Amino acid sequence: MSTTFQKLLVKSKYLNGLQCSKLLWIAVNQKERIIEIDQVRFDEGILVGSEAKKLFPDGIDISTENFKNNLEDSILLLKKGKPLFEAAFQSERTYSRADILEPSKECWNIIEVKSSTKVKDEHIQDVAFQKYCYEKVGLKINKCYLMHLNSKYIRKGKINLEELFIKEDISKKVEEEIKHIPKRVKEMLEIIDGKEPNVKIGNFCNIPRECPIMEECWKFLPENHVFELYRGNKQAMELFEKGILAIKDIPEDYELEDKHRIQRYCVKNNKPHVNKKELTNFIEKLKYPLYFLDFETYQSAIPIYDDLSPYQQIPFQFSLHVVDEDNKKEHFSFIAESNKDPRKEFLKELKKVLGKKGSIIVYNQSFEQGRIKELAELFPKNKKWAESVTKRMVDLLIPFRNFYYYDCKQKGSCSIKHVLQALTKKTYEGMEIDNGGLASIRYLYIIHGDKHGKKASAEEVKKVREDLEKYCGLDTEAMVDVLDVLRKV
Ligand code: SF4
Repeated sequence: MSTTFQKLLVKSKYLNGLQCSKLLWIAVNQKERIIEIDQVRFDEGILVGSEAKKLFPDGIDISTENFKNNLEDSILLLKKGKPLFEAAFQSERTYSRADILEPSKECWNIIEVKSSTKVKDEHIQDVAFQKYCYEKVGLKINKCYLMHLNSKYIRKGKINLEELFIKEDISKKVEEEIKHIPKRVKEMLEIIDGKEPNVKIGNFCNIPRECPIMEECWKFLPENHVFELYRGNKQAMELFEKGILAIKDIPEDYELEDKHRIQRYCVKNNKPHVNKKELTNFIEKLKYPLYFLDFETYQSAIPIYDDLSPYQQIPFQFSLHVVDEDNKKEHFSFIAESNKDPRKEFLKELKKVLGKKGSIIVYNQSFEQGRIKELAELFPKNKKWAESVTKRMVDLLIPFRNFYYYDCKQKGSCSIKHVLQALTKKTYEGMEIDNGGLASIRYLYIIHGDKHGKKASAEEVKKVREDLEKYCGLDTEAMVDVLDVLRKV
């Protein structure tokens, strides 16, 4: 059963409630059903918050360990008239904690720190709820600010916090939003105290972010359901409202766009769709030797090296399969070793193996092209080389994104993982590292250690490097296999 503390409406639950009443109820009453948490985003948020606080050197950090002490300390420390970090206030059943409360003309400013690079609607709702709570306990709020990262900031030497952060005045928007809060709070408290609401799924399950209960709520959908229609959320919702859950049940006279018609055809006839003419055109343009290339990158909210902006991608690994006209295959790979900026070495090694002619096949070329362009900007002597490499690139995503080939086993997705499984039955399952996000987390660990300062052991480094090799190697091998299948059909 819930305790009194759980029955409070805290800020995060209020935001849950704005997305869905069922999510709110579960978050308060049965939070063990929630499969989260995006730990990286969470850690990144903490790091950004602590950097922002450095801009207020006389600020007082209020301990957050003990809920009751935190509330008492917050009220006592208000008298000091200094910036307060993590001050918490409770009014009846609403509770909120402020990143930074800054004294201002006998009043206080709310400063909410976010690791994003712009103000989002959910931030306004977040700060409005805070203001509502603080004013209810009698605090006078002057202005509300959102402090977020400046995407245009480029690190040169020591981090310049004044330039890294942008403090935007969001007071007017908050004022607009706050009008709706009393009614919502009343409704949400009723939901919390009541029975679990019965909510029908909808597009809101993904807005502003994917709901952590989706697996549970969406599992009733049949195989090849309408939400697998390629980029067809609106269409899927319309069909769902009409009671049509499976693609195979979409009536023939129902108006569908071409790609969705292909999907229905494939499900109904249980065979792939092949546009031989377009596939042949695509394949005939390829020039040997074929270079199958894939990059792995990582990014950080706070730039860790010079010449980097917040969230800029840092390439640290590549895999390259080279196939000649006799179908002879060679594999090259690179993983940066030191904890220094890997970009120079990455570029040097890539130049060694990319040759001067032959198609460079990538999957979703804007990613690899973007990184090559950034490397050429950083090391301008390589501009010509970068231009020629970019011109040689061919995007293997095109036949799938344009539905020259579609198999219903792709489940409406054109990602290399879905395509590989549908065309070759090979999967990434069982691999220690099976996605790009995990690859960057593991790599950062062996290079920089964890957030508590623990360094990776030699065995851990060896193991992670092997796993990274396997993962990135499979990405390029997958492209070789997929192209082989396309050729055969
Ligand atoms: S998956 Fe959708 S319906 Fe289910 S709790 Fe989440 S938002 Fe609500």
